[in-house]
This record gives sequence, structure tokens and C-alpha cells, in this order.
Amino acid sequence: MKKVLLSLLLLAPMAAIGQPLSDTYPTSAGDVEITLVGHGTLMIRFDGQVIHIDPYSQVADYAAQPDADLVLITHEHPDHYDAKALEQVVTPASLVIANTSVGSIYERTNRILANGESTEWNGVKIEAVPAYNIIHERTPGQAYHPKGVGNGYLLTFGDFRLYVAGDTEPIPEMEALKGVDVAFLPKNLPFTMSDEEFVEAARTVAPRVLYPYHYNSVDKKALQEALPGIVIR
Ligand code: ZN
Ligand code: ZN
Repeated sequence: MKKVLLSLLLLAPMAAIGQPLSDTYPTSAGDVEITLVGHGTLMIRFDGQVIHIDPYSQVADYAAQPDADLVLITHEHPDHYDAKALEQVVTPASLVIANTSVGSIYERTNRILANGESTEWNGVKIEAVPAYNIIHERTPGQAYHPKGVGNGYLLTFGDFRLYVAGDTEPIPEMEALKGVDVAFLPKNLPFTMSDEEFVEAARTVAPRVLYPYHYNSVDKKALQEALPGIVIR
């Protein structure tokens, strides 16, 4: 019990002042600073390197953002694959990892990861996990996010596991994600999850710290009440 409490304390995020939301987590591989830039977009600093996930020019001025050492792209929708933002942070030295749909249209992609594939960068294990809709459809039979296309990413920094879900609903594959410390789960109908679906996914993934993202509105107090064992940021 003591050990669990201690590890919870070690994982308690240290909030930075002001916006956007930024927390630093100590890990066995060094500090991992995670910034929710806005919507479905993250920036991570680790080991002096910068990771941009789904950089999106509607949520930040990427001319003013640091260049990318690594870029991860989840899928081809314009709020995730944004050529303008990419142009401003991708340099010849950047490693660009994308899902299959972006890999087929973005010539700067270095590595394509299909669902279930993984790779390593700078000691960080990067696993592409499924992200898709089961219920929510654009037209009958056509999901907003068809199974097998989009990626979520599971990143392992030493003893620390970060799950960035991408655009998804609660899916059975989430049950296989073990030992997630920090998770980003999307909310926003009709494309991803309702509040109820979000709570269901959160209970399945069971991270220590959970960030709702990709939302139009969120009631964090209600989510915290529904998920008493998880720290909601
Ligand atoms: Zn999408
Ligand atoms: Zn989206």
C-alpha cells in the first residue's frame, strides 16, 4: 500500500503556470513534459528533444513552436494532419511517423506504422494502436473513423507509459493496454465519444492521470466524480 501511494505521489503532475495545460512527469528515463496545446494536439519534451503529435495550426502558431525531432500523426483528418503546421516544425532532421492513410499522401513520412506495429526512437518505444468508431457513422455503414486506418500511440519512456488515443470510441483493444500512467482520451460527438463512452473508456484504460482532449465542452467535475480513482486534468 505504501509503495502504491508513493508511486502515485511520484506521478502527481506538477502543473505549469498559465495556458496551455502542461505537466511534467518524472520517469526512470528522465522527465517527460507533456503539453496539451489544444484540441487533439500535444507537444512533448523529453531528453532535450521535441515531439509534436498532430500539430495543428488552428491551436497554435507553429512558426513560434520549436522544431520537431519527432512527429507522430494519428490520421488524415485536417485537425490531425495539417500541412501548414507540419511545414513549420518539420526539418530535414525530423523523424516523421504516420498512420497508413497519412503515410500514403504525405511524402515527408519516414515510417508508416499500421495498427499493431511498433518502432523505437531515442529509447522510447512507440506502438501504434487501433483508433476507430463502432457506433458513430458519417453515413450508414461509413464510420467517421473506420477500423484499421487511424492510430493511437502508446509511448513508453522507461517505466512510464503514455497513451494518446487519437480519434476513437471505447474499443475492445483498449482492454489490452496495461499499466498506462497517463492517458489522453477524446471527447466530442459525433466523431469520438459521449460523456458516457468517455467514462467507459477511462475505466477500461485505467490510467493514473487522465486528460480529456479533442472536446467542444467538458465537465471535469462530473468526470472526476464518475472516475474517483483517476486524477482528471
Ligand atoms: Zn478524425
Ligand atoms: Zn479529430
